[in-house]
Amino acid sequence: MTLHFLNCFTCNARVPSSWHTGTLCLLAETAQGPVLIDTGPGIDDYLHPPIILRVFQVITKVPMDADEAAIRQVARLGYNPEDVRHVVLTHMHFDHCGGLGDFPRATVHVHEREYEAFMGRPRQVSDLAYVRRHIAHRPQFALYGDRGESWYGLPAILLPFQPEMWLVPLHGHTRGHCGVAIRTGVGWHFHVADAGPVALEDYAPAWLVNFALGPHTDRLRAFAAAHPEVRITTGHMWLDFFDGRESI
Ligand SMILES: [Zn+2]
Repeated sequence: MTLHFLNCFTCNARVPSSWHTGTLCLLAETAQGPVLIDTGPGIDDYLHPPIILRVFQVITKVPMDADEAAIRQVARLGYNPEDVRHVVLTHMHFDHCGGLGDFPRATVHVHEREYEAFMGRPRQVSDLAYVRRHIAHRPQFALYGDRGESWYGLPAILLPFQPEMWLVPLHGHTRGHCGVAIRTGVGWHFHVADAGPVALEDYAPAWLVNFALGPHTDRLRAFAAAHPEVRITTGHMWLDFFDGRESI
């Protein structure tokens, strides 16, 4: 199977100005067709930014290039976006699911706790990054709860795709946030999304990382050290990650 790496939302820090990141979405070729893991913002977000995105435009430098939208990148890779019938979400923040409306026929696979957090009243600061209009097209959801299964010793939920793909609960950044593990032709790929800092690097104080991203960073670093054969990515990667790395 081929796994494509897409930067669907470039976001550059104002301070330090050297921090240039892209929001990583994955496109996995499966027996069930191309499966998109997170969408990034949608075309409509780029053309009519919701309030939370306008806030981001103030506190960071966001190029707002609609060509970064997943639907355009999927098409540039040679796929028909209408063939994307499944989207797996790590969580439902605007920068990870804003493009759902660009794939209106796709079933949306997400942890039930994340769906409940998105649909409920805001209870914590991170809930402010949910944008209700991102499901205005009323997509079909496939919701998952914990089933007592595990992947590499981590509680996990098997998704209905071949090759194997697991939803790995890493709650904290949001109430239902999950990573996604994918069996590729060159081994396992573990996308931990926003459960850890960029590339799991140590550049910010632990209290801040735990506050913003949840309690998993130390555990994920230990996992990475114990399993060098597993390729790990985070939801936001340094821009140079994407240079010349379109797929494995
Ligand atoms: Zn997030």
